[in-house]
Amino acid sequence: MATVLRPLHTCECAICQQHSEATIVRYHAQINLLLSRLAEPQRRWYVGVLSQEPDSPSDVQLALITGLDEKTIQRGRREMENELAAVPVDRQRHTGGGRPRSEKKTRN
Ligand SMILES: [Zn+2]
Repeated sequence: MATVLRPLHTCECAICQQHSEATIVRYHAQINLLLSRLAEPQRRWYVGVLSQEPDSPSDVQLALITGLDEKTIQRGRREMENELAAVPVDRQRHTGGGRPRSEKKTRN
């Protein structure tokens, strides 16, 4: 089974729908590309951090951009504010749903 890769989300914000600003379209596509390579908890932490940037979009916008639920984004932000205290480093792999990579790949 593949790790927790999820299909690439296509941004649904107004700018991307209309392709009105190439820079933003590219930026949103990159956010989604990055998210597609992250494990589930890391996705919400990343977007939680994004949501606190000075000019960051609202959670509603971020939900459109990333495909994450608003509640998920809020949760990510909260967890970051608490310095991930509820998510000890050594437990992430077990609780996050992320599995170690299959070793088959290197065998040949
Ligand atoms: Zn967008």
